[in-house]
Amino acid sequence: MTESKTPVTETLKRFRELTGLIKQYGEILGVAYWDMRTGAPRKGIPLRSEAVGALSAESFRISTSDEMGELIDRLSSSATLPTLSRIDRRLVEESKKDYDRNRKLPPELYREYVVLTSQAESAWEELKENNDFPGFVPYLEKIIDFNRRFIELWGAKATPYDTLLDLYEPGLTTTELDRLFGELRGRLVPLVIAIAKDGNRPDTSFLEGTYDKETQKAFSKFILKEMGYDFEAGRLDESVHPFMTGLNLGDARITTRYLPHDLTSALFGTIHEGGHALYEQNIDPELAGTLLCSGTSMGIHESQSRLWENMVGRGRAFWQHYFPELKKHFPGKLDNVSAEAFYRGVNLVEPGFIRIDADELTYNLHIMIRYEIEKMLFNEGLSARDLPEVWNAKYMEALSIEPPNDSVGVLQDTHWSGGAFGYFPSYSLGNMYGAQIMDVANRKLPALDDQIAAGQLHPLKEWLTEQVYRHGKLLQPAEIIQSVSGQELKSSYLCDYLETKYKDIYHL
Ligand code: ZN
Repeated sequence: MTESKTPVTETLKRFRELTGLIKQYGEILGVAYWDMRTGAPRKGIPLRSEAVGALSAESFRISTSDEMGELIDRLSSSATLPTLSRIDRRLVEESKKDYDRNRKLPPELYREYVVLTSQAESAWEELKENNDFPGFVPYLEKIIDFNRRFIELWGAKATPYDTLLDLYEPGLTTTELDRLFGELRGRLVPLVIAIAKDGNRPDTSFLEGTYDKETQKAFSKFILKEMGYDFEAGRLDESVHPFMTGLNLGDARITTRYLPHDLTSALFGTIHEGGHALYEQNIDPELAGTLLCSGTSMGIHESQSRLWENMVGRGRAFWQHYFPELKKHFPGKLDNVSAEAFYRGVNLVEPGFIRIDADELTYNLHIMIRYEIEKMLFNEGLSARDLPEVWNAKYMEALSIEPPNDSVGVLQDTHWSGGAFGYFPSYSLGNMYGAQIMDVANRKLPALDDQIAAGQLHPLKEWLTEQVYRHGKLLQPAEIIQSVSGQELKSSYLCDYLETKYKDIYHL
């Protein structure tokens, strides 16, 4: 038997080089992605897409190369792995997972899929505009077929859909989600019904009006600074759909969208993306430049954006301090509104068709509908053309409303056109993780509410850095929630939080 004569230090050095290169390519792809969505000239997009495709393919090639396979093999051997540092061990584990998964996909099949989803994404925008679901069916059928083939190649877990869930939330299963979502539904639906029937509806008229864009921008920047967002390690731009992109430890950019007649869109969009960015800006510098220097999962990432947006930003304590600041920014606009009325107004609960416009409470029901439909697609063979009927029936059942057309129904989200099946649950997981983490914060940080009400957001940010942010991908999602709360993920924290908050707001 011949053993490799290359010393472990050499193998490790090369492994770090190659994974570092993948990270660097990822950063450049991130800049290109940011640029395309924040004002790149329209005429340059087709060639830019090809450039992005070429660099992605090169990154894919390195991550699935024979050399990478050999390096991972040597480093993950039972003799070597335990001798590596904690960071290198995790890096090997992560790279092995990607390598094993990607090697199973024939590169040609993968390339075809990238082209298909990129075409489908641009087609979707127009089809949605024109309310043309039948036009979307051929794309959707192909994308679903590709995903079914990927699942076969990757190997189905307990169910085919479990394989897709694992892409976004490592370790999460449908059994677990069925339980969590079942509990959530059991407590949230009665609350939504009680609010509609007996709730004392807040006034929201003052949220509409004319709110100068430059002033909205100034207030967004002010709030970001208050949260501890580092403008020397990021920037705020505009895009149609707000997003955050973490390019490297010193560059986590966010975008928002200013609507002249709606004060809350930019405000809460900015706080949401700011929460994502705080996570990326505060990862341990030891992880900088490695593949571990990013949030650990979509669910944990969403927990941070949603925690800041809803639990802090839509909280009573927050507006006790920041409402006078808001009034100062918009003199004469909110004169007859109290901080309490503003707090109630930004927490209006109202079943609607559109997920991204949904309130904090009904939002989870939108997610559960998508989750159930995705399970039907991959575990029960539901066909794409039957989606509108299933979609509308589920909206009737969960929210007692029926979409008047597919644009505001089954066509509303971009995810399926990009092939992101299994992604939606991350949003509700984020709400659950966030509530469980905030429950600990409220017990561990004395007088957290008082601090927030005094405009001191730093103690919370520091605590979250210590508990969540600094770990990057060094800890898995289940390890994070266990280390923060001493428990696995539970739905009860979110249910308790929502019941307490909304029974108070609606005087139930
Ligand atoms: Zn988000």
